[in-house]
Amino acid sequence: MISVEEALAKLLAPLEPLPVEQISIAEAVGRVLAEDIAARRTQPPFAVSAMDGYAVRAADVATVPATLKIVAEIPAGAGFGGRLGQGEAARIFTGAPLPDGADTIVIQEDAERDGDTVRVSEGAKLGTYVRRAGLDFAEGDVLLHKGARLSPRHVGLAAAMNRPWLFVHRRPVVGILSTGDEVVMPGEPIGPHQIVSSNALALAAFVTACGGVPVGLGNAPDDAHALRRFAAGARGVDLLVSTGGVSVGEHDLVRGVLSEDGLAIDFWEIAMRPGKPLMSGSYRATPMIGLPGNPVSTLVCSLLFVKPAMERLAGVPDGAEPGQFARLGRDLKPNDRRQDYLRSRLGRAADGVLEATPFEVQDSSMMRPLAGSDCLVVRPPHAPAAAAGTMVPIVTFPGGAWPL
Ligand code: AMP
Ligand code: MG
Repeated sequence: MISVEEALAKLLAPLEPLPVEQISIAEAVGRVLAEDIAARRTQPPFAVSAMDGYAVRAADVATVPATLKIVAEIPAGAGFGGRLGQGEAARIFTGAPLPDGADTIVIQEDAERDGDTVRVSEGAKLGTYVRRAGLDFAEGDVLLHKGARLSPRHVGLAAAMNRPWLFVHRRPVVGILSTGDEVVMPGEPIGPHQIVSSNALALAAFVTACGGVPVGLGNAPDDAHALRRFAAGARGVDLLVSTGGVSVGEHDLVRGVLSEDGLAIDFWEIAMRPGKPLMSGSYRATPMIGLPGNPVSTLVCSLLFVKPAMERLAGVPDGAEPGQFARLGRDLKPNDRRQDYLRSRLGRAADGVLEATPFEVQDSSMMRPLAGSDCLVVRPPHAPAAAAGTMVPIVTFPGGAWPL
């Protein structure tokens, strides 16, 4: 058995970011930039008013009340060819370019218009409510970097930078192969000794949530010939993920059968719970992760191994996420030699500190507590007993393909 850290390092080592493709910015959310991006425009491109009001010269409103002559109306999107002289003002609206000669905006709440003149009742300091050209960024500034996963905020920024298209890494296509004589897809005819498959659909949803494209390869019965036939569907995917059949029973065929069919196993068995029988390698040169069949093992291992593998393929740099901690909500016994991932609820204690409370029962077949948990409490190998109140590392379930 190898440690989780060692397993992850071995899994990631051979993986390279996928090729680059050019996409419309309209399709860019969740995608990973393959290049640094420089602004193609200065923002704002000219000094603009930040409010509806009057463009003035600060010196003219140094003493109030002051009455100024209105010489122009400047809505957003329009300009004023002339220049504001002493004692003059321009009616101006948010986003409109500041006229030459003006240096300050008086908001309309502080002024009263009377025909062609405006009476300013409150003074304004030089530069008030003026957004200078380039306040946000200047043409040529590099604002988005290779490896960034684009959030809606990044999309807005790239758009403002006048970039209608972007170069991103191709999305990882993940083949999902479930196994087992006993599993049947939801809604399909089901025999007396069979169960409904949850893994294939949970994994497909997981892959989508990580920004990948799932391809269902079907459910292979526990039969060598059938398994080879189903696995052959992995031709062309970027990552093959199987569930079930990697443990030690006579009906666990994945390792044995596929090894005779182009599978090179890199490692098998990790000192962790759930998920000990996880296998990693390459099947006919396609990276492959063999997940254990228990539904909780499948999803916990997806979080710990499939997600980082997909991120590596998508071009996300390592180590972006800081470690998280919470205060333990119950006493825990000493741990054995496997790293434990305890399904836990997360809440705020009365003092505002995050508190993680592991469920009493930690059976790797039970999906209800998994679905009801907010995080996994990590118990390193041989961790001593931990009393409620101790700070412990946790892993949370991320929200989706991109941060908002
Ligand atoms: P295995 O890893 O094949 O030994 O399976 C371990 C346990 O997970 C067994 O109880 C299986 O019935 C169950 N299992 C395997 N595949 C699935 C699946 N696709 N959906 C739900 N449970 C599964
Ligand atoms: Mg099985």
